[in-house]
Amino acid sequence: MPDFSIGVDLGGTNLRIAAVSAEGQLLEKVTLGTKVILGRDQVINEMCDAIQRLSAKYKATGRLLGAGIGIPGIIDMQTGMLRKSANLPGWEEYPVRAEIERRLGAPVVLENDANVAALGEQWLGAARGVPNVAAVTLGTGIGGGIVLAGKIWHGMNGMAGEFGHVTVEPEGRPCGCGNHGCAEQYASATAIMRMAREAIASGEAPSLAQAASSDPEFGARSIYNLAIQGDEHARRIFRSFGRYLGILLAGLINVLNLDMFVIGGGVSSAWDAFAPNMFEELRERSLVYAATAPTDPLSSDARGKEGAAAQTESRTERKTIITRALLGSDAGLYGAARVAVSAG
Ligand SMILES: [Zn+2]
Repeated sequence: MPDFSIGVDLGGTNLRIAAVSAEGQLLEKVTLGTKVILGRDQVINEMCDAIQRLSAKYKATGRLLGAGIGIPGIIDMQTGMLRKSANLPGWEEYPVRAEIERRLGAPVVLENDANVAALGEQWLGAARGVPNVAAVTLGTGIGGGIVLAGKIWHGMNGMAGEFGHVTVEPEGRPCGCGNHGCAEQYASATAIMRMAREAIASGEAPSLAQAASSDPEFGARSIYNLAIQGDEHARRIFRSFGRYLGILLAGLINVLNLDMFVIGGGVSSAWDAFAPNMFEELRERSLVYAATAPTDPLSSDARGKEGAAAQTESRTERKTIITRALLGSDAGLYGAARVAVSAG
């Protein structure tokens, strides 16, 4: 068996760990019931125990190259400490990397969760074989990661890729980051629910009001289902979503001129509902996109047969491809395993 590394996805609710071969083959994946709410020390204990169990098993036949840990928050790459993490209270100003390295006796890399998701998609997912890629993760908020020549672009100190806090509406809604009109206030699951609540409160969206009162799990997915069934109020929400996502992407394309932009995260499954408006906005707002757009951008969705053909064709013609992520929630696990290899 081959050399391997460990990837860890430390989410806001649970903890997933995988052993991945240096070639990208998944050897084993475990999900721990560890509740992040139990606190830092408990989480680190259980994480290290699980990493040690996995590595003992695969060390019999291959070398452990290191461990990568994807964490939601802003990480200081130099010190291996968390600067800011809304989901991990009590982790700031604690030597996370040093402590885990001490326990494991192997090199450990801490990395932002959206950065490892971008690297995972570039290594083994939608952007496999494409060297320069940005990934946008649409979830509760918006995460972003930039991969250049197969490596995460960190910026000066690891804070690059904060796409969610780019302004898309100058006098827009206040954001937790201190700015107004951030992209994640308009193009995230939270934004979809906010727009639905506003439509219901206006009294002009009876179909949404009815769904909200009858569906105990009413959420972004329910609104998407209504949209694809043709409900006008739900469709309007996704048109607005697509428009703002397009404004964000137009700026990224103009600045970065990358080969590919991968759209992932839970809300990317609503692609059909928002993508047409996103592409419309891109053509209107980005000269770089207008000059490099594939003939039929919607068919460049990597999942379709036509999409694969469109991608092959566009790579020879150097087109800007915007496509859906392929690895789902495993992107971060693979990317975390990959950063461990490149660091080890
Ligand atoms: Zn913000």
